[in-house]
Amino acid sequence: MKRMTKHLFVAAIIVAGLVSADYGYAKKNKNVDPEVKNVIFMIGDGMGLAQVAATTVNQGYKPLNLERAQFIGLAKTYSANNRVTDSAAAGTALATGTKTNNGAIGVDPDKQPVKSILEKAEENGLATGLVATYSVTNATPAAFIAHVESRNMEEQIAEYYLKTDVDVFMGGGKKFFTDRKDGRDLTEELEDKGYTMVYELDDILSFKGDRLGALLSSNAMPKMIEGRGDYLPLATGKALEILQKNSDKGFFIMVEGSQIDSGGHKKDASVVISETVDFDQAVGVAFDFADRNPGTLVVVTADHETGGLSIPSGKPDFSLPDQGVKYEFSTGGHTGIFVPIYAYGAGAENFSRIMENIDIPHLLEQLLKLK
Ligand code: MG
Ligand code: ZN
Repeated sequence: MKRMTKHLFVAAIIVAGLVSADYGYAKKNKNVDPEVKNVIFMIGDGMGLAQVAATTVNQGYKPLNLERAQFIGLAKTYSANNRVTDSAAAGTALATGTKTNNGAIGVDPDKQPVKSILEKAEENGLATGLVATYSVTNATPAAFIAHVESRNMEEQIAEYYLKTDVDVFMGGGKKFFTDRKDGRDLTEELEDKGYTMVYELDDILSFKGDRLGALLSSNAMPKMIEGRGDYLPLATGKALEILQKNSDKGFFIMVEGSQIDSGGHKKDASVVISETVDFDQAVGVAFDFADRNPGTLVVVTADHETGGLSIPSGKPDFSLPDQGVKYEFSTGGHTGIFVPIYAYGAGAENFSRIMENIDIPHLLEQLLKLK
């Protein structure tokens, strides 16, 4: 090869390398409608970076679905009255874009109702959904539909499922609908309103209609270590299928991995890790849906960290995980550290920065062009 040709050849290889290095991202986005039509908002309750790291360490660094995220950010989680938030104030921040006091659901610090992104999506003709692994009346999902001054008002929170037009909701908490002080049976009222109410996973999966309420346990659903099985990834996939069918204008859904938090409160790493693995399975379902449906944005974050989890060096490191790795908790409560944000699909680049938790719903509303 003559010198000149050789130089050109080398240059061509370098250019090809640069082009192909860029190609993965370009390819992924080439055919993507820049408009965001569908938003899948996923909240790992209590899932700080340490919870994700522990899960990764525990499986020998095998990548989680979360690692498919195209853009990563960090969120500040403090509430209006405490540097350490609870799930009610954090849920309200993520649902409404308003910082409020710990304990409050869908109301500002003056106890005035603030509209959630789910309610705005409904008003704009989008289909909507909520999926959780704890009660559907628990703080995180409650913040997307209810407006009450205390998270403990779960019977009142259940009534909001009759006041909204959410297309699909799934989780636990049946007793707050049927075993009530006022004697009402809200499941009957929901059926009168056009919902099919089901109480088993099989009935979720075989459902063919368009409005579904699933209450799979009296209050909390079982933990993964108690045999919850594949409920969350399966229910998430089914909810996405129903919402896609229900609206050509797009949809908004919130999916919660509710019990990562429970592991932190119990200082039980096996609960933290098994619940994070389960949530990550649902993240994989959502990312796959975004791959098949351009115009879908998936944003995954946490409401706060729980347990002050850390991964100090054990003896001997890099031997069997249970001999070499210690998981230590510094508190049985929540902490005030930043939490990760993982974004995938249309508009994901907007989330690659450090932001307030309330910025996330504001950005999502802008991208969905909600009025
Ligand atoms: Mg929660
Ligand atoms: Zn908690």
